[in-house]
Amino acid sequence: TRPTVGFIGLGNMGSGMTRNLQAAGFPLVVTDLRRESASDLIEGGARWAETPREVAAASDLIITMLPTPKHVEAVASGPDGLVVGLPDGGTWIDMSTSVPDVLDGVRAATAGRGLHLLDAPVSGMSVGAANGMLQIFVGGDADDVERLRPVFEAMGDPERILHVGGPGAGYAVKLMINQLWFSHLVATAEVLSVGVAAGVDLGVLRDALIASPANSTFVSRDVLSILDHGDYDEGFAIALACKDLGLSVDLARSVGMPVELSSLVEQIFRRARARYGDRAGEMTPVRLYEELLGR
Ligand code: NAD
Repeated sequence: TRPTVGFIGLGNMGSGMTRNLQAAGFPLVVTDLRRESASDLIEGGARWAETPREVAAASDLIITMLPTPKHVEAVASGPDGLVVGLPDGGTWIDMSTSVPDVLDGVRAATAGRGLHLLDAPVSGMSVGAANGMLQIFVGGDADDVERLRPVFEAMGDPERILHVGGPGAGYAVKLMINQLWFSHLVATAEVLSVGVAAGVDLGVLRDALIASPANSTFVSRDVLSILDHGDYDEGFAIALACKDLGLSVDLARSVGMPVELSSLVEQIFRRARARYGDRAGEMTPVRLYEELLGR
């Protein structure tokens, strides 16, 4: 029989991930600030719990998929937090895009309880969560990663479940992926808009870029769908993209690396967030350039 998975955070990502765990036969105990987010899961046999503590006490392992480090901290700590609910020797996997501070704090405060703590953030967007095709970057103990592989495989692409290093390495890999992704977005929107303003046909420019060494996912796929269909990916809020960029710049600062470009990209995303609102899609910065072109 499958171990019982406790899952906290049933948003754009967690909703798809829990559906796939349930389909793979893992009994679930779940909670969220929004109870309605669990109705389908409960119909499928999941148990609702009122607090993170209750989730942890009723599960063989626990997964969190929460917006920011602050939310992870709130769920972990306090009298109703998951840390007091975890049995000695228990397992907690944080799959949020975050930084190591919270898990490091728990590690220090619970030494001797034998807890297994892993960071395992993901890529693949809400569609990847729904399809069970996430890429997963796991930081932690190799034995834990092997033991938990069936759990990861229920949510992710088996070929792309990567053990990337010790505690915190998963968070670092994920933040660097998002940093490069968002840097590509801005760089691509910028050159497309200058090319078009200089009189080149957008389709011609795109085809030339696709055939060139400067091709990238944004050139060949995403900016096409954005410019053609106005799809800015509301499945990932720009407020969360700004959170990732802030954490990326913080990480650079904490290790003493200068990151001029990353800082600039963060500011451009913050400008788009201020202009279009927290819930606008992650690719909304493209609109800043579309407006300059009068599109
Ligand atoms: P979301 O805002 O859609 O969902 C977060 C959920 O957490 C919400 O349902 C919210 O009610 C719940 N929550 C918040 N605080 C809580 C608390 N104290 N107790 C219980 N539940 C609480 O966010 P999302 O898009 O699902 O993203 C989750 C994480 O995954 C973020 O760290 C994000 O950066 C990362 N991520 C998102 C995507 C994407 O495409 N959406 C892709 C990769 C990674």
